[in-house]
Amino acid sequence: MKVIKYAGDLRNLVSNFQFMGMQTGFVPTMGALHEGHISLLKMAKMQNLSTICCIFVNPTQFNDQKDFDNYPITISNDILLLEQAGCDVLFLPQIAEIYPHGTRNLPHYDLGELEQVLEGAFRPGHYQGVCQVVHRLLNIVSPDFLFLGQKDFQQCMVIQRLIKLLDSPAQVVIAPTCRERSGLAMSSRNQRLSEEERKKAAAIFKVLECIRQNIGIIPFDRLINEATSYLLFNGFSKVDYVIIADAQSLQPADSGGQNVVALVAAFIGNVRLIDNMVIRL
Ligand code: AMP
Repeated sequence: MKVIKYAGDLRNLVSNFQFMGMQTGFVPTMGALHEGHISLLKMAKMQNLSTICCIFVNPTQFNDQKDFDNYPITISNDILLLEQAGCDVLFLPQIAEIYPHGTRNLPHYDLGELEQVLEGAFRPGHYQGVCQVVHRLLNIVSPDFLFLGQKDFQQCMVIQRLIKLLDSPAQVVIAPTCRERSGLAMSSRNQRLSEEERKKAAAIFKVLECIRQNIGIIPFDRLINEATSYLLFNGFSKVDYVIIADAQSLQPADSGGQNVVALVAAFIGNVRLIDNMVIRL
């Protein structure tokens, strides 16, 4: 695997791929890699794409400085995992490579309602930061395919909107959420949980499953109240939201016939976890 630190070098390499008629699959990450990240890479490899992974902990998407400071960094292990998975290129830039003119006065993107709800509301500025980094990465990598995880459901919607706004030719592929045996969605942030907390964190999956099983039977508001109480009684210190939303708009769903997604964001100690489940009615 080639490890590249500079945008210019990566652009040259991508031009070579294009010259050779090879299509590229791009997997942007913030590192502390786990099977979820690797599943995206494997999907790209299954499509016979040249695979480019990026590890960059993007400062502009953190609305909480402590969260940024505490973000896990495990580069040697990440490199090992990527090599084992057969990744072709790792892009490992410094902050100045991504933001050569600093992180002030970066573009602003019209994300509409997506920025007002759920993660947009609880993490002000977060999705602007996501768009700033993805825009820059798309300019450097010019991928044919961009691989994202459903684990970050709203982020997938934001990036799809960004791609439309930019009129980018990159095609988005969304991979299902990889889970631990307990059902806990794999996440870099899980590394900050103790063994005990990790066990408790599986309650998020339990409530999502419970919502899925009872969705035609119990009214939405009762499902949401019971899920919230369950989390609070089972080790979560704070619940930002449990919502059953329309899967296209992320607005609260009524009980009508549509595809919905149940989404949860909650804290165990000071670690904030998110997860979701798409439910076809
Ligand atoms: P992150 O490093 O958390 O920014 O995630 C990088 C990419 O991996 C994003 O597209 C995530 O949605 C995806 N991802 C994170 N966790 C999982 C998971 N458990 N299963 C599948 N994809 C994931």
